[in-house]
Amino acid sequence: MKCDYCEMRNTEILYEDDEVVVAIKDTALTPGQITVFPKEHHTILEMVPDSILRKCSLIANKVSIAIFESMGCQGTNIIAQNGISAGQLVPHFALEVIPRRENDDLNFQWQPKKLMEDEMDAAFNSLKEAASDIYVDENQKKRKSTVKLQDQENQMIVEKEGKDNYLLKSIKRLP
Ligand SMILES: [Zn+2]
Repeated sequence: MKCDYCEMRNTEILYEDDEVVVAIKDTALTPGQITVFPKEHHTILEMVPDSILRKCSLIANKVSIAIFESMGCQGTNIIAQNGISAGQLVPHFALEVIPRRENDDLNFQWQPKKLMEDEMDAAFNSLKEAASDIYVDENQKKRKSTVKLQDQENQMIVEKEGKDNYLLKSIKRLP
């Protein structure tokens, strides 16, 4: 597969283990920008397994702290360009940690606009149902699978729930 991150092209590796890579690329918004990505190829955020995503986030935080301490910057932006329309260039999920200083002229500050009431209501109504089921704890999943082994009747319910959740997630493109 031709993927810059899988092949680790044009990068200097700062850290890697069997799951996550931390690298400096030869193209950046500003020197000190650091890219954190899963070693395994996952195109976008919703494909990244929870445990890997958690590790990427924790490492991005450590990287951000390292940037503060070693480069004397005053802030960091930690962003994911998730999908082509969001500016994603490499088809491999990554978090970018970008050092910021006052008046550094990096231009990705957007100006929030005041929403019309009906725009806000429409967004709220579209997302409300999806958001009510947005987080399933991994321990809860484990408990569900224990139940599955113990009880035939529960097994059917659990499987149905699992299927519904999967469909809901697929339709609503939840991670
Ligand atoms: Zn890749």
